[in-house]
This record gives sequence, structure tokens and C-alpha cells, in this order.
Amino acid sequence: MTSKISDLLGLILRFPAPWILTGAGISTESGIPDFRSPGTGLWEKMDPMEFASVEGLRRNPRAFFTHGLQTIDTILNAKPNTGHIVLGHLQKARLIGPIVTQNVDDLHRRGGAIHYYEVHGHFRTASCMSCRNQVPISEVVSQVEMDQIPPVCYYCGGILKPDVILFGDMMPADYQEASLLASKYQYIPKLMIVIGSSLTVSPVNYLPLEFNRIAIINNTPTPMDYKADLVLRQQIGEVMGALWDEILALNGGKEPEPIPYGFNCGHLIAYLDNEMRFLAGQKTRMTASKESLARHTGHIKADLEAAQKIIQAFPAEGRQPLENAMLRFYLAEIERMNQDFDAWCSETGIKPNAEPSRFSKLLQDNFKDNVNAFLTYTGETEPLPELIEHFAARAAGCYGFWSFANRILGLALPPQDEWENFKKTARKHRVEQDLDQYLNLFSQ
Ligand SMILES: [Zn+2]
Repeated sequence: MTSKISDLLGLILRFPAPWILTGAGISTESGIPDFRSPGTGLWEKMDPMEFASVEGLRRNPRAFFTHGLQTIDTILNAKPNTGHIVLGHLQKARLIGPIVTQNVDDLHRRGGAIHYYEVHGHFRTASCMSCRNQVPISEVVSQVEMDQIPPVCYYCGGILKPDVILFGDMMPADYQEASLLASKYQYIPKLMIVIGSSLTVSPVNYLPLEFNRIAIINNTPTPMDYKADLVLRQQIGEVMGALWDEILALNGGKEPEPIPYGFNCGHLIAYLDNEMRFLAGQKTRMTASKESLARHTGHIKADLEAAQKIIQAFPAEGRQPLENAMLRFYLAEIERMNQDFDAWCSETGIKPNAEPSRFSKLLQDNFKDNVNAFLTYTGETEPLPELIEHFAARAAGCYGFWSFANRILGLALPPQDEWENFKKTARKHRVEQDLDQYLNLFSQ
């Protein structure tokens, strides 16, 4: 178990802010039944089209709402478990990115998550099926309890339906936003960690395909296990608890402060890691020409050296222990890749050309990806001010990191007008922070 937990932590550190996808499995430890698991699954006892479809609701509202009331009751009384709480901690520490959840139980929000997408909706509110008037779920509960079935809209008499996705419904805005945001990151390999989902419900099960790498924590096999870097079959609470213990231990027993924006070097490591995978593939079946491999490996060699230089130059002073542990982890990863690289060259007989590092371009693209992600967020119908600030700070941190890396590599500093333009855009979207502070993070 311990080594698997270290592998999981390694993946989290190797990819900057991995995304999380959760399904029913994360909430079973909170006493919410998994609709699909064999034996205990509700769907084995009931026809899903009867109690979880728009058609069923219209045909037999009594069955729908009396069953629905039990579900609402179970959910409102459930408490977030270790899995939800650790994900909340990880997100606050900025070690993970957004959480996409198939669950409608509100337990991520209540477990402390700040950035999540409820792609199957939630039970906090209900909406009128005729005029879209939205009411708190308590309105539905009290009407059903008084035997007003179906519960109706005060304004127009239409049926009040909880804001969860039923068969026959369109996917909610959260789903479109999550897929759009995931597609904004193109230049750095990205990771999705699937937790407690059997990946059988579409269209959410296609989301992992937006990611270069996946890890899966689920107690039954999934259709994507074969392409996962890591598959854990343990209890989710147990895995997440052990993961958090390991992080606390790295941080001298203290809860970590948020990792500074721009600090995460996972993007360099993820990039190099991907290149090493390419090389490994070329060893089994060489599809590229020797000349192009000599050129390509020349770039990789230069990138490995550049990454080492950048990370060694990070000032260690004033950092929390976790950040220093991250720097040590990055250096060990580079060391491992250097060894693999040398072994690859001697086995294949390919001699790397002298080539420049591509990092400056990569970091520029990374900054642009993050600006695009920020813009996606500002384009939303109901932008959330904290998330806008978060994305702006992230983009600024990436610019700061890019500047820092160029300085260490002896390259010209990034163009000032890109920075000024970004700040102008950020101000237009009411970003209040002093974004310049992120430029000076590593200036010693
Ligand atoms: Zn209405």
C-alpha cells in the first residue's frame, strides 16, 4: 500500500494541478448507495427509467417523488468523508486542479473543495419545468411531505424538478464548462485522477480522453484501466487518508500553506517524462529516422540540463518543508531521466546533436494556456469572483516562472507587452490582485 501511495503522490507532483473525476464510489463511505454497483446497486431493484427519467417523472410522479424524497433525505443527512475532505485540502494547497463530479450529493463543496463541476447537477435546488423558476430543495421536500405530488411552481403551476440530471435531460452548463476548460490546456501533458467511478456513464466517461495520462482509484475494473499509469483497488477513504498523511509528513507534520502560484515545476517534469516515453517507444520499434532522433535527443538533453539548472536555482529559503521536498523530488526525477536517457543512447547508438533547450517556448505556451483558461472562466454566464482571481494569479505565476527560467538560462526576458496586455485584460475583468507580485517570486 505505502509504495502505491508514494506512486500516487509522485503522479500528483509530476503533473501540475491534475484534474480529479469522482463518481459514486467516493460517497459510499458517507452512506450514499452507489446506483450501479452489483448486489447493492439500486438499479438492480428498480427500473432507472421509472425513477430517474423525465418521462418516468411525467408518467408516474408519485413513484418518482416518493423515491426521490428518500434519496434527498439520505443526501441531506450525509457527511463528507475522508475522500472528500482530503480532496478539499489538496485543492486549497494547490496540489490538484478542478474536481469534476458525477455525484449530486454536494459533498465536495461541503468537504471544502473550492473549484468543482457538478456535471450531473445537484440536490440543493429545484427548478420549474415550465418557467425555470428556481427554488431551494426544501420547497420540494415540504410539498411532497404534505402529499402535494408532484410539487408545483408557485408562479405558474408547473412541476418542480430537482436540479439533477435525469435520463432525457440536457447536460448542465457545468459539464460544458469543464470540457471547455480541459481543452484549453494543450502544451503540457496533463493527468486526470479518476476516483470511485466505473467510467461507464456517458458523456462524462469521455472526459479522461482529454488527458494524456490517467490514474484510477476504484474498487471494480473500469474500461480505461488498461491505459492508466496507476490503478488502485483499495478503499478510497483509506487511500486518500494515507496520501494526506504522507503530505503532512513531508511538511514536518503541519498542514501545508497554498503552494505559491508559479512554483509548481510539474510542467517541466511532465514534459520531459512524456519525451522519455516517446524514446522508450522508439526503442521497441524505431519509427523516426536516425537523423531526426539525433536532433530530437539533442533537444531532450538540453531540456534535461535546463530543468536541472532552473530547479537548482530556486531559492530554498523561506519555503515550507513541502516545497523543498517537491524540489528534491523534481531533481530526483531529472536524475532518473538522465540515467534512462544515457542508457537509451548507448543501447540505440544514437548520438544527440548539440541543440538548444525548448523550455522558453514551452513556458510561453504554458502562460498562454493559462491565460486562455482564465478567459474561459471570465466568459461564463455567472463568473465566480474567487475563481477569476485564482486563474489570473495562476497565469501570472506562469509568467513569473517563465521570466525566472529565462533569467537562469541566460535568455532574454519575456516580452513586456504580453504581460501588460494580460494585466489590462485582467483589470477589465475586475481582477483586484497586484499581479506584479507573481513576477518577483523567485527574484533572489
Ligand atoms: Zn413555473
